[in-house]
Amino acid sequence: MAMRGFRFTMFFLLGVVCLLHADLTVRYSRSLPPETVLTRDFSGVDYFNVFELNKTFKAKVETELEDQRLRVRIYDEEFVFLLESPWVSAAGRTWNMVYPVRISDGRYNLPVSFLSTVLPAVLPNKARLADGVLTVEPPVDNSIRRIVIDPGHGGKDPGALGKTKGSREKDIVLEVGRKLAARLRAELGVEVILTRDKDVFIPLQNRTKFANEHDADLFISLHVNSARAVRSKGIEVFFLSASRTTEEHTVEALENSVVMNFEGGEDAVRKYDDLDFILMDMAIQEHLEESNDLAVGLEERLTKRTGAEVRGVKQAGFYVLRGATMPAVLCELGFISNREEEKKLLDDAYQAKLVDALCDGVKDFKFKYDSLR
Ligand SMILES: [Zn+2]
Repeated sequence: MAMRGFRFTMFFLLGVVCLLHADLTVRYSRSLPPETVLTRDFSGVDYFNVFELNKTFKAKVETELEDQRLRVRIYDEEFVFLLESPWVSAAGRTWNMVYPVRISDGRYNLPVSFLSTVLPAVLPNKARLADGVLTVEPPVDNSIRRIVIDPGHGGKDPGALGKTKGSREKDIVLEVGRKLAARLRAELGVEVILTRDKDVFIPLQNRTKFANEHDADLFISLHVNSARAVRSKGIEVFFLSASRTTEEHTVEALENSVVMNFEGGEDAVRKYDDLDFILMDMAIQEHLEESNDLAVGLEERLTKRTGAEVRGVKQAGFYVLRGATMPAVLCELGFISNREEEKKLLDDAYQAKLVDALCDGVKDFKFKYDSLR
């Protein structure tokens, strides 16, 4: 009997110790698996790294070191923390977390009391604490989960043609596209869909339509370039815009010529021009900054990894990008009209470099926007 009492006491004490330092379980009120907020002990008080809030709430976290503030957006509420202070402002007043925000190794840590007391008080309809478990509304998840890769041309449209090796744009971009899709699936765990995974012709507008219908979060069109000047070389990445320079206009005309040559001539061109300026306007407004950002990242990664000439990020009115309701870019991976670059574009090891760079560029973009939105 005494032994049982002793055991009971031991279990009880262990239980108390565990309660004193414990990770916090966050349960969602609808069908999502629970998350755990990892905590660490600072002088007997449980703290968590502020970026745990990304994971649990898809929160947007901004640090403004100049004025010693930390801004965190959870659901639609902004919480403003003062560094080294227990006070946090939200919903038009200030709340006391009892323990201050702490900085350790350059990381910002919030006391668990923020989640257990302040959050349920500020947002009683979204979060509530019972028996050490926080139950919350599932957050709005705008992270990038589905990517459409669009290998240009195909079927009756070979795209640009190589001068010395007889290679065709449509074959090169299909190969790179397939490899890229496999890499992105494996490394980012995202869903990747190809507009074509074989040698078939797809009209330009069906490509973005495909991406829209599949609710894609990113659209990447792959091409190789061609120029009359055989010395032209290098990599350039485009995003959609109505304004462009003469040179940008040249590449645009080249890629858009598909419509003239393979989709029904001038009538088809007119159809694109009427229809798409309306759609284009919407798409540009909404995703200009993100598309620009993605283009800059990809151009940098691509030219660094391959050593190819930096032709830069450009804007153009590609038909293939018009109407995309997500960030969309078009990569010109090199000049098939340049003897050396044609040879490289056909080379497995060089294609692997292109795929590496594209994958890293998408990764950077995903990590940035997943935590921002
Ligand atoms: Zn092309």
